[in-house]
Amino acid sequence: MKLKKANAEIFIPDNKPVDEAIERTTHLAISAHQDDIEIMAHDGILQCFGRDDKWFTAVVVTNGAGSPRDDIYANFTDEDMQKIRKLEQKKAAFVGEYAAAMLLDYTSSEVKDKNNKDVVEELKTIISKAKPKVIYTHNLADKHDTHVSTVLRVIKAIRELPKEDRPEKLYGCEVWRNLDWVNDEEKVSFDVSAHPNIASALVEVFDSQICGCKIYYLATIGRRRANATYAASHGVDEATSLIYAMDLTPLIEDTQLDIKEYVLGFINRFANDVSQKLDKF
Ligand SMILES: [Zn+2]
Repeated sequence: MKLKKANAEIFIPDNKPVDEAIERTTHLAISAHQDDIEIMAHDGILQCFGRDDKWFTAVVVTNGAGSPRDDIYANFTDEDMQKIRKLEQKKAAFVGEYAAAMLLDYTSSEVKDKNNKDVVEELKTIISKAKPKVIYTHNLADKHDTHVSTVLRVIKAIRELPKEDRPEKLYGCEVWRNLDWVNDEEKVSFDVSAHPNIASALVEVFDSQICGCKIYYLATIGRRRANATYAASHGVDEATSLIYAMDLTPLIEDTQLDIKEYVLGFINRFANDVSQKLDKF
């Protein structure tokens, strides 16, 4: 298997041949940027960690150019930043024992261009090769434009595949907006309490994103901890760390389902919940 872009890369931590490495995938995550996957798709990483019957593959769509930089990275050019961010993604793939990390190297504007067919075609090739049971990606209510574009490209790619090549589940996860607001009965909760050291290390390796700017590892681990504690007001916490997701599976089972109406449905049901409580008391 070969990727379209000249500087795209497939990194395989255990040096298996490329096809074999990708075909063993059971859990796949597709993100806009390096480090998004470790923030949002830790459930998939954890399900496959230390096992030889389940394998996690990371697909990063953009090249990571244009990210903020400080400290030892302050004078880095966009080209230097792309190199360091690729290296950091490979470090995470090694620590997390991924089957493969695929760095597709598109620009943000290519991903945001709804007429660009390359991203969708490449995602189709990857998904039909990997045939994962589960795909994690961004949620449709994320506030980052490239994240929203990425999930739209992912849904389009899966919808264009024959049914037998589609995953059983598609989850939209938290990065640039929490999903705590989704009504409890329709929220997907992933218990990611195990191996807290790995969870932290996986976000900590992205030094160029953290250094002098943002403490992503504390924020990410803190959000999961807060999700677990604030999940229910009565009773004791069963999990110490929870990630929330929006179930996007209906959108890949029914290709006629309107994407905007689908996500607005979650928001409207949340509005009704707030409204009903106010009427009740
Ligand atoms: Zn991102």
